This record gives sequence, structure tokens and C-alpha cells, in this order.
Amino acid sequence: MAATTTTTITTLPDALGHFGPYGGRYVPEILVAPLDQLEIAYDQARADDGFRDELENLSRRFAGRPTPLYHAKRLSRHLGGAEIYLKREDLLHTGAHKINNCLGQGLLVERMGKKRVIAETGAGQHGVATAAACALFGFECIVYMGEEDMRRQSPNVFRMRLMGAEVIGVDTGSRTLKDAISEAMRDWVAHFETTHYLLGSALGPHPYPRMVRDFNSVIGREARRQFLDLTGGLPDVLMACVGGGSNSIGLFHPFLEDERVKMVGIEAGGRGHRLGEHAARFSGGSPGVLHGTYSYLLQDEDGQIALTHSVSAGLDYATVGPEHSWLHDQGRVEYVSCSDEDALEAVKLLSRLEGVIPALESAHAVAEAIRRAPDAKGQSFLINLSGRGDKDIGIFRENMPGLG
Ligand SMILES: *Cc1c(COP(=O)(O)O)cnc(C)c1O
Repeated sequence: MAATTTTTITTLPDALGHFGPYGGRYVPEILVAPLDQLEIAYDQARADDGFRDELENLSRRFAGRPTPLYHAKRLSRHLGGAEIYLKREDLLHTGAHKINNCLGQGLLVERMGKKRVIAETGAGQHGVATAAACALFGFECIVYMGEEDMRRQSPNVFRMRLMGAEVIGVDTGSRTLKDAISEAMRDWVAHFETTHYLLGSALGPHPYPRMVRDFNSVIGREARRQFLDLTGGLPDVLMACVGGGSNSIGLFHPFLEDERVKMVGIEAGGRGHRLGEHAARFSGGSPGVLHGTYSYLLQDEDGQIALTHSVSAGLDYATVGPEHSWLHDQGRVEYVSCSDEDALEAVKLLSRLEGVIPALESAHAVAEAIRRAPDAKGQSFLINLSGRGDKDIGIFRENMPGLG
């Protein structure tokens, strides 16, 4: 029965962190105690109005919530079909939705009495949000970043250092996000008594996928209310890009019981369909374990983690949050992929027609809306604009000749 299915969907994970067969805790024995400690602290905080009020206050006064819901009229008219609405997470402090999670975990660190925070970062957006939160709370902050990513994203390295963070380059493996996460986990194993690992997406071992989802669900709660106020109804389709899966699950989760609302997650299609050319876990991957969780994963026949590619660093990762794997198998969310080229075209169109320059990650969702809108007259699409494009100006320059 449908009613039973939706109830099951929104009450997950179970007590051990499982979303159906996915999720769980695949970690060295030594990390079980700090994960238990975190879970207890989070459960207490969730039940505490004081915590909720503090988080809401910081979200308003520091991060700039609520973010607007914006009707993209010129883009809608240009496409001649669906009406397109943007949830403007790009307007948040530090430029993306990542600050939602960093403020929530920052308050938890304060409650746990820890003073040292470690984090991983790919494009640097999570590193910047973590550095900002640590400056705000007065924590020591260490960010692990692949040396290849440090080279590609040097302005973000500078921003983190300016806010007092120590950025440590990782020169193992492909010298990107996957290797930075492995290094952060190693640090945590050695220092968990004094240190919190501030993980940046709805990934990793329980309780992170649930906790990071909850901190980002403010996106969907606000958007649902704003959409009702503006139109008197609910949107027909939600769209969001899926890297680790935090901005998308944050938008989707508060709508899961609205059975008529369709949801589409957009992964990085990169530059081709062969393994190594994209980060489309649902079309090119199969379930496996990486970084403490069981989920769809890009791997070769021997179970070795595959290399990935995307023009957007934030979507360039071999696995995806376990709740998405569950929603995929249930058929509740449809997952598609969008190529580098289409994402860059979407950046141009949105910039020109609406005066909004999206992050390359978010542009993947915009591209899917552009593809579908002409055949969807009478429908409404709500897209999560997870971040702004300032950080990507260098990549736009390389790919958009003629603009100077
Ligand atoms: C990090 C990032 C993403 C991808 O991460 P999710 O956890 O999948 O949301 C998407 N958009 C922006 C702007 C980002 O910075």
C-alpha cells in the first residue's frame, strides 16, 4: 500500500543507520565510540528546543536564511513550457548550502566540548563553510584537500587560510576528494577524543547521512511553505544536483510524503559514458562500500574504486549518500545525468536571462529543467540552486571564448 511505503520512506534510517540495505557503519572498531558519542549528542540536541532556537538564530543572522524562492519568468517564457522556480541557496553566506550543515555540526561540537575540527573538501566549498563556522565558534580548524584540487581551487584555499584554517594538502591516490576523505578519517582515528570530524555531505557512516540530511532539510521545509504561499499548490517536479547528496536530500525530504510531487536527482555525466569519464553512480555503478557506508559506487570488475570526472568538482565523487540509493531502488526519485557541456550551456542561459550565475554543480539541475520544460506546459519545476558561480569563473573563462 502506498501509505505504508511513504511512512517507511520518511522514518528511515533505522536505529543502525540503514536505509533498506544501504548505509550502516563500515568503520574500524576504534571509530565506533566517537560515532556513538556523536549520535547521542545529536539525539539529545534534536529533542532540545534550545538547540533548535540557537540554530535558527544563527541561520538567520549569520547565514542569511530564509533564502528566497524566485520565479524565473524570463527563463520559463524562453523555454515555452513549464514554469520554473529557483530556491536561492546561492545567496547564503559562503555561497552555497554547505553552511546549513556546518552551523548545525558546529553547535554540536560546542555541546560535546570539543575544540578541534577536521574536514575534507573537494572544490573547497565545504572547506570554506567549515572555516567560517570554526571562526564563528572559535574552534581550531584543519581542512584536508587533495593537491590537485588545491591547484584547481586556489582562491578557496586562500579564503580558508584567511579565516584561520590550516589547509593540509593530500598527495596520495588521485590527489582529489576521495583521498582527502581517507586522510581526514585517519586523523580522526588518531585524535577523536579532542576532535570532531565535520563531514560535508549526506554520506559516510551512521549518523552522518541522517544528521547532514536533517540540517539541510531546512531547504525543503522553507521551499514547501514558500511555494504554497506563492502559488497555492505544490510544485509538480523537484530537481537538484547530486554529488554526495546533501542539497538534493535537503530539498526532497520534506516532500517525500507528497506523492504527487515528482523528484529528479541529477548526477554528473561528465564527458562520456565510459568508466572514468563521469560520476553517474546510478547508471554506471553498483552497490559497494566506500568511506564507511554501503551505497551505489563506481568500481571496476575487481571492486577497485573507479576514477571519476566532472567539470564541477562538487559532483566528482565515486559514491553517493545511502538514502539516495534507497530512494532510487524504491523508484521514489528518478536519477539522470547531465554532461559537462550541457551544464556549461545552462550557466550561460540562466546568467543571460535571469542575471543569476549558478555554480557548475547547480547548473546540472538547471540543464535538466531546460531539457524537460518545453514538453511540460502547465507544470511547475522547483530547482534547488545549491550555490553561486563565483568560484567557477576560471572554468567558465576557459570554456566560453569571446567573453574576455
Ligand atoms: C558541494 C556542492 C554540491 C554537491 O554536494 P551535495 O552534497 O550533493 O549537495 C552541489 N552544489 C554546490 C554549490 C556545492 O558546493
